[in-house]
Amino acid sequence: MKKLEHIGIAVKSLEDSNALFEKLFGKENYKVETVESEGVSTSFFQVGETKIELLEATKEDSAIAKYVAKKGEGIHHLAFEVEDIYEEMDRMRSEGFIVLNDKPKKGADNKLVCFLHPKSANGVLVELCQEIKS
Ligand code: ZN
Repeated sequence: MKKLEHIGIAVKSLEDSNALFEKLFGKENYKVETVESEGVSTSFFQVGETKIELLEATKEDSAIAKYVAKKGEGIHHLAFEVEDIYEEMDRMRSEGFIVLNDKPKKGADNKLVCFLHPKSANGVLVELCQEIKS
């Protein structure tokens, strides 16, 4: 793994949380993006080397909606950048982690992503992400 790429935070209202995190960081987000397939709207802040991704559900049955209903707002996942996501997924499986996706999927911010089940990683939802090279 190369680095902590971003921290995902589940929120109820992207609008309210954008205003809050703008105050916290003293700067505006650089991107808002909806990932329709995941039922989520995202907002990204660059904070030094790392990014903060705010996630708001756009559908009631989306993973973020379920998370917020069950656990409330808060840290949702840690995302680590990898060089080759296919290779890392194989490595994770061989190390006994539960990889939640058969294949990487297209995430926000021009990334291929996959997730590891929190129950195989001490309760942490881990995202692996790889920049889509065009
Ligand atoms: Zn993420």
